[in-house]
Amino acid sequence: MNTDAVSQSSMPQSAAQKPIRSLDDALERCQFLGMRLSKQRRYILELLWQAQEHLSAREIYDRLNRQGREIGHTSVYQNLEALSNQNIIECIERSDGRLYGNISDSHSHVNCMDTQQIMDVHVKLPEEILRQVEAATGVSITEYRIEFYGHHADAAAVTADPS
Ligand SMILES: [Zn+2]
Repeated sequence: MNTDAVSQSSMPQSAAQKPIRSLDDALERCQFLGMRLSKQRRYILELLWQAQEHLSAREIYDRLNRQGREIGHTSVYQNLEALSNQNIIECIERSDGRLYGNISDSHSHVNCMDTQQIMDVHVKLPEEILRQVEAATGVSITEYRIEFYGHHADAAAVTADPS
């Protein structure tokens, strides 16, 4: 990638708008935005892209330290805030706190109510449904995120068994 000092205004639009699809894309976006790529910041991005889960700051701190990556609590919190403010990572607000994920563009979630697992999915609604929502609200839809809830097929079978 060309990392020469190029002012943002002369960069093609697409460089800034391109969705982040890999760890390299995320690192590239940091550089593009002029964010310092400290060791700690790299650790967090690497972990999120490896884990592909939604993790709390506490879990991120614990996992990194278990991997022998030395990072302090404050550094974890500050980096997560900086990365989510720049939309390089996802931040979701849950009743029991914030969770962070590696996918930052619009996506939907499948929530398993047995395991509390949150899975990322890209769901495309039929144009017809978007038109209906627009007609009903007068709002032109530019993006959407859907929250699905349910049980794993095998877990549902277990809870349905009375014995
Ligand atoms: Zn997500």
